[in-house]
This record gives sequence, structure tokens and C-alpha cells, in this order.
Amino acid sequence: MDVPTTLIRAVKGTRDLLPPATEVWNSVEAAARAVFRAYNYHEIRTPIFEETQLFARGVGEETDIVTKEMYTFEDRDGSSLALRPECTASVIRAYIEHRLDQRPGVQKLYYLGPMFRRERPQKGRYRQFSQIGAEVLGPPSSGSESPLRDAEILEMLATLLDELGITGWTLELNSVGSLADRARYNEVLRTALDSVVLGMCQDCQRRAVTNPLRVLDCKVPADQPIIETLPVIADSLDEASRAHFAQVTAALDAAQVPYTLNHRLVRGLDYYTRTTFEFTHGGLGAQNALLGGGRYDGLSEAIGGPKAPGIGFAMGEDRLVLSLLAAQDQKAAPLKADAFIAPLGETLNPAALVLARELRHKGLWIELGEGSFRLKKSFEAAEKTAGRIVILGEDELQSGILTVKTFATGIQTKVPRAELAAFLAEPAKG
Ligand code: ATP
Ligand code: MG
Repeated sequence: MDVPTTLIRAVKGTRDLLPPATEVWNSVEAAARAVFRAYNYHEIRTPIFEETQLFARGVGEETDIVTKEMYTFEDRDGSSLALRPECTASVIRAYIEHRLDQRPGVQKLYYLGPMFRRERPQKGRYRQFSQIGAEVLGPPSSGSESPLRDAEILEMLATLLDELGITGWTLELNSVGSLADRARYNEVLRTALDSVVLGMCQDCQRRAVTNPLRVLDCKVPADQPIIETLPVIADSLDEASRAHFAQVTAALDAAQVPYTLNHRLVRGLDYYTRTTFEFTHGGLGAQNALLGGGRYDGLSEAIGGPKAPGIGFAMGEDRLVLSLLAAQDQKAAPLKADAFIAPLGETLNPAALVLARELRHKGLWIELGEGSFRLKKSFEAAEKTAGRIVILGEDELQSGILTVKTFATGIQTKVPRAELAAFLAEPAKG
């Protein structure tokens, strides 16, 4: 019977989120939902796992996500499934499967939830992490290709970050053109890489053959000076792509959303077309991308759907919370209830429950003590968990006058039961 048990811990790269930090997560999500509502987005919830094939096609066979980072497993019937590494492909699949193209106008869908990638865990990089993202897509007749959609989504993100109190973000912007522009640029790059690629990293040597565009994503320091000499994509864009991008930036200028142009921003998804973007934040260190996204006019067709141009983004909620906590000195504020009710004796436990119920129904945040506690123990427990203590003894119950102590000031007050809720709703400031 005495089998020694080893302590089971959370799997590497996964985390438990505990209070009070979960309060910060909830407030981020509440702020995001409020902003989405103002922009007329609605929530979509898709499954955590999908057929592996969806991501191979929807994210791209050649991407890091699909080649190295996906959690893929064989189901009992032999089919290959994968934990979702991102959500865009799932949203497009759902759009196609449920014929959302038949609904009027553009579809504006947002999601939030966990994603899974087998990466090397470090600050701001986990194997299970959360994204908040959105997609705007629809048939071309719905205006889904309009540069106004791009500008609107970028302006919304600027608003959301401002609303959350994230200061000092940078919006980096680029256009990777149409699929034809990209194909042309890929050839230009391939030729330019011919003479220099042997001096670059192994990954770049592979990419130079399979997908030269990906070379611009390379993070190896020694490769950077070489990459800086390569031709830029802006010179390969056709008239229509240039005009589209010019209208995106004109609308951003009008709305006074600041941005910087970054011609190397090609992003990890193979199907990005035209506008690509990232919001970065200096306070995050090496993992400085808060969110990324772009237009994907050919994605729906790539996974077997109708023509459905669109644009979307995914925001790393873990990194968002990290930057918020950094701004507040790394610690979420301790949680304190409005009041702690201390019954004086076990016979008063039922009356204490009634009083707590009364106050909670009025919207107050109440912690309930226990009648077996001595008064001193009640005070100690109350001071740790609440701003005030309400003492409920036999006298208080009979007279309807309660004794309330406000810890911040040390002041003790007699309050009639009918006025108690209003009294407790006042901030317990010193
Ligand atoms: P990175 O270059 O940092 O790996 P990415 O290009 O792989 O980012 P996306 O696929 O665009 O990232 O995902 C959007 C956002 O999701 C990122 O900007 C980041 O904030 C967040 N994110 C991506 N991977 C992780 C991870 N492993 N842990 C935490 N957040 C992540
Ligand atoms: Mg990545």
C-alpha cells in the first residue's frame, strides 16, 4: 500500500492562473468584449482540436507552426487530429461549413481561448497560451476587400490597447501584395538569394528553395545584414495593391492612428495578402509582439470554400497581461471583499447567512465568517480578506443596529440594518 507518490506538476510550458491575477485576465477579456461590441463583432467558439489537415492547409505546410510546433495526435480510429495552434483556420472552416457567406454583409467574428504550440517555454512564450482575435470576412460583394475594413480593424486595436491602459505600443505595417505580387517577389528574392544564401543559416538555405519570403522572418543575428540588402516587397506590388495600401494608410492618418512601415513584416501565415501588421510593446523584452494579423484574401479558397476575402488578427493575452502587470509593478492588487460578516457564536450562523444573502443580492461583495471563531480570530480573518467587518451578535440581531469597523480608518460605526448596504457600498478608504 505504501507506494511512494511523486508530486504531479503542471506540464512544462503550461501554467495555472491564480487569483488575484485571474482578475486582470477577466478585466482584459471584459474590455475586449466591450470594444468588440462597439464595433459590431460577435463571438464565435470553435473546438479546441481539429483535423490536422485543416492547419496544414490553412496555416501553411512550410510554416514553423505546422512543421515544428503543432501538437498532433492519432485518434483511436487512426485519424490525425491537432490541438489548435491558432484560430483563424478554424473560423474560416466554420464560416464555410455553416455557409456564413449566405448571411447578409461582412461577418465580424471574435474569439478568445487557449492555443497550443510546442515551443521552448520562456517569459511570454508558453505551450498553452491564450489569444483574443477577430476576423472580418465575406463575399467580395459585401465590401470585405475594402481597405476601410483594414483601417477599421487597426483603429479598433489602437482603441482596445488604449482602453486597457497599454501605453507605448507601436503599430508596424506592411503590404505583401496580392498572391501574384507575392509570387513575383518570391522570384525576385530567389534570384537575389542565389549569391548570398550560402552565408546564411540552415533554415534560410531551406527557405530560399521552398519559400524565399520566409527568409525575411529570420531572427538569426548574423543573417540580418544580408537580409537588409535584399530587394523590398513594395517594389514588386502592382497598381491595385499599391492603391489598396495607400487607402489603408490614408484612413489611419485621418483617424490619427500612428504606425511605422516595416517592409520585412511578412508574418507567419502562408496565405497573407496585402496588409500585414503587428503591434509591439517595448516592455516585453524579446517576446515583444503583442498581436499580429493581416489580410488573407485567398484563405477560404485554399481550404475548399467560396471566395471570401478577409482580414484578422490574434492578440497574445498572456503578453498583454504581462505588460499590464509590468505597469503595475508585477503584482495584481490583492482582492478584498466589501465586508466580512462575523457571527458571534454558532447559533448566529443562520442569521449571518441571511444577512450575507441580503447584502449580496444588493450587489455587495461579502465574505462570511464562522460563529465558532473568537472575535479576535474573526478580526484577523476579516482584515486579510475584506475592507470592513460587520459584527452580528444577539444584541445586533435584536436591535437591528450593527457594528461596522472600517479597517483603513480604524473607525467603528453603528449602522441600522436598513442603511447597511449603502454604508458598505462607500469605498473603505483611509
Ligand atoms: P512570435 O514571433 O512571437 O512567435 P507569432 O508570429 O508566432 O509570434 P502569431 O501566430 O501571430 O505569433 O500569434 C499572435 C500573437 O499570439 C503573438 O503576437 C503573441 O502575442 C501571441 N503568441 C504566439 N505564440 C505564443 C506563445 N507560444 N506564447 C504566448 N503568446 C504567444
Ligand atoms: Mg511563433
